[in-house]
Amino acid sequence: MKKDTIAAIATAMSNSGIGIVRISGAESITITEKIYKGKKLTDHAIHYGYIKDDEETIDEVLVMVMKGPHSFTGEDTVEINCHGGVYVVKRVLEAVIKAGARPAEPGEFTKRAFLNGKMDLSQAEAVIDIINSKNEYALKSSVSQLKGNVQKKIKDIRSQILYHTAFIETALDDPEHISVDGYGEKLKVTVDNLLEDLDKLIKSSDNGRMIKEGIKTVIVGKPNAGKSSLLNVLVGEERAIVTDIAGTTRDILEESIRLHGISLNVMDTAGIRDTDDIVEKIGVNKAKEQAGEADLIIYVVDASRELDQNDFDIIDMIRDKKSIILLNKSDLATVVSKNMLQSYIEKPMIEISAKEEKGIEELEETLKNMFFDGEISFNDEVYITNIRHKTALMEAYESLEKVIFSIENDMPEDFYSIDLLDAYESLGSITGETIGEDLVNEIFSKFCMGK
Ligand code: GDP
Repeated sequence: MKKDTIAAIATAMSNSGIGIVRISGAESITITEKIYKGKKLTDHAIHYGYIKDDEETIDEVLVMVMKGPHSFTGEDTVEINCHGGVYVVKRVLEAVIKAGARPAEPGEFTKRAFLNGKMDLSQAEAVIDIINSKNEYALKSSVSQLKGNVQKKIKDIRSQILYHTAFIETALDDPEHISVDGYGEKLKVTVDNLLEDLDKLIKSSDNGRMIKEGIKTVIVGKPNAGKSSLLNVLVGEERAIVTDIAGTTRDILEESIRLHGISLNVMDTAGIRDTDDIVEKIGVNKAKEQAGEADLIIYVVDASRELDQNDFDIIDMIRDKKSIILLNKSDLATVVSKNMLQSYIEKPMIEISAKEEKGIEELEETLKNMFFDGEISFNDEVYITNIRHKTALMEAYESLEKVIFSIENDMPEDFYSIDLLDAYESLGSITGETIGEDLVNEIFSKFCMGK
């Protein structure tokens, strides 16, 4: 079936320097020619001219022509760069639609890129992750996924599964020539290795989530320890980006703080900042609740005052949690030392002064070490950041476990191949090879307009 030609505004709908209307499909060049006045359109070149709606000149533009298959979608594509006013971009799009294009659905360009084999599904999903990425690591992991690192890993695992499935099937079809005696042992070695690979990928998804969405963080400490001062330092720095996220669960307010490569999503910052409500500020009960969901607890100690019952309650609470202890007010005469605290609890400790903004760099470094073993390398590490991929990996894992079970229990060989094939199918949904149209549509419908 010949696909129709689609068009959409690819840039944000706010006044800006440049706006881009993107057209993709077999008719995109013909359609553009109807409304464009300027030098003849040639492949892979940029042309200066005007867009007209009948006799009316709408805007002065640059028109970029990319002949398929050498384009993002794999189809003939035209991009019209016009001035970036909301009204003028809309008028250019209207002219394009009038000339024969259909308004694109969200994500339809990338969907076409996928359907035309320009990228697999994991790469297509990386496109939207790049657009949504909020920090250095999120961007890096999405770009490495776009380059195909997830795809490569999955393809490799699938091809091993396929090889063995094919062997078993062939052998069962032709028992006179191919023997499956002792094959189970051989297969077990491979499947054990594959299970290890899958396990590693599944485990990476915890880091993957934190890279992509940020580290869920709770700040605790007795009143006046300096929690809100710390938060202000972290938020107030120029390098930090702050957004208020309306919480969906129990109205918890989150504040997202970007520290170089990583993001901290500090939960319930409203409570921390509420200076009038002293009782609330102790927050041990509340923190206990939140601690269950948190990836990280930052415990702020007022090192200028003796530890009190509040502190001991908190120390008990954070014992089994990933925590970092900040000895605040290091600019004053201090009575609490690292040594003293270490006799109560073993956690990374840093002396800071929220007031003088000291120790913040060390906090960032420590966080990176705690969560990602220092620098994250995206060269050979694959991080699973997509929950859909994680689910598929877990399904594949279960199927392969069944293969091991069948081998260990001397089941007939066709049992192996049934579960091998299941694993093969599950993994194929990551790359999009074994995925239904409905799911494809659902994935792309979450994309933004014009992408
Ligand atoms: P919270 O109740 O834990 O949120 O504590 P605040 O951030 O409101 O701080 C309580 C008091 O301690 C305020 O008067 C702050 O100015 C002061 N404070 C916070 N951090 C420091 C610090 O590093 N050094 C000094 N000298 N004072 C601090």
